[in-house]
Amino acid sequence: METMKALVKKEPVKGIWLEEVPVPEFGNNDLLIKIEKTAICGTDLHIYNWDEWAQRTIQTPMVIGHEFVGTIVDKGINVSGFKIGERVSGEGHIVCGVCRSCRAGRRHLCTKAVGVGVHRNGCFAEFMNLPASNAWHIHDSIPSEVAAFFDPYGNATHATLSFDLVGEDVLITGAGPIGIMSVAIAKHVGARNVVITDINDYRLDLAHKMGATLAVNVKKSTIEECVRDLHMYGFDIGLEMSGNAEAFESMLENMYHGGRIALLGFLPSLTQINWDQIIFKGLTLKGIYGREMFETWYKMETMLQSGLDITGVLTHQFKMEDYQKAFDIMNSGQCGKIIFELGEI
Ligand code: NAD
Ligand code: ZN
Repeated sequence: METMKALVKKEPVKGIWLEEVPVPEFGNNDLLIKIEKTAICGTDLHIYNWDEWAQRTIQTPMVIGHEFVGTIVDKGINVSGFKIGERVSGEGHIVCGVCRSCRAGRRHLCTKAVGVGVHRNGCFAEFMNLPASNAWHIHDSIPSEVAAFFDPYGNATHATLSFDLVGEDVLITGAGPIGIMSVAIAKHVGARNVVITDINDYRLDLAHKMGATLAVNVKKSTIEECVRDLHMYGFDIGLEMSGNAEAFESMLENMYHGGRIALLGFLPSLTQINWDQIIFKGLTLKGIYGREMFETWYKMETMLQSGLDITGVLTHQFKMEDYQKAFDIMNSGQCGKIIFELGEI
């Protein structure tokens, strides 16, 4: 049996293990992809740290990871539309194809989606199998460093393009990689002011470099001060990207009447909010999960081709063997996106 190197969640305790595992088999409708670069997501950090969510979600052993770019090296007999040697990334939600949402073409709302690197083996490995219907061809103009984190770029795109931003004032809470990319997207599509908040100066600095009008540390100043300094009455659009209840509360307080909010961060499930802010201001709230298949992917490609630059969010690249350093930096928060390099074909 052929084997390969992979980062495996081997034991149900904190940590990750570099192991030799079998090269995955692939079915008639699947691609076999040689992974070139992968990126670490907050989800991978949850799995590494073995927090409460990971404990109830992950079955060990599991090859983790779901952000990748690679090259097709083999394919099932039913696969059409993809060629061996082609560079692809792919959607990490494998949908059922038969539920009401799937049948209606709303695959991002599938009720039975299976997560790559969460519910089945993922991409922190030399090879991964993937249904061809999940793959996305990477245009030659897009560098592999960027294609490696198309997955979270997709979250940022789906959330940010949820509402018309032209000329609007946008508040983003949370300058994680997704919030930082959303700054660039919002500016690209024509927002007026884009204010982003965090409690981490390293990340706020990245967000500022990506074009934020103001990048605010809420431990040192307030969103109210920004509203005043920018001579605004409040924000038209909110993108909640921190998963922090206080951040969400302060967003509600600073929205202008009729404002619209996309909720991407995983807020604690029983977060209390002041309903007066929503009802009396007539706010609209939209939950965001994943990204649309494949309209979001299309916009991701075309925005890059029309001048959007998201490279500033990439701060570190490591060989997969140096995984411990990478996870330590992730845990410190002193980073944007971190990439593992597995080597070019
Ligand atoms: P991240 O955890 O790297 O970023 C969250 C940021 O919020 C951090 O920089 C943190 O310092 C900041 N933060 C903490 N408290 C804050 C406060 N009071 N005010 C402002 N900022 C504060 O995450 P990410 O990878 O950028 O993802 C953003 C969020 O979206 C996370 O909650 C993540 O779990 C979630 N997520 C959701 C989806 C989805 O499909 N809905 C997909 C991926 C990630
Ligand atoms: Zn479905």
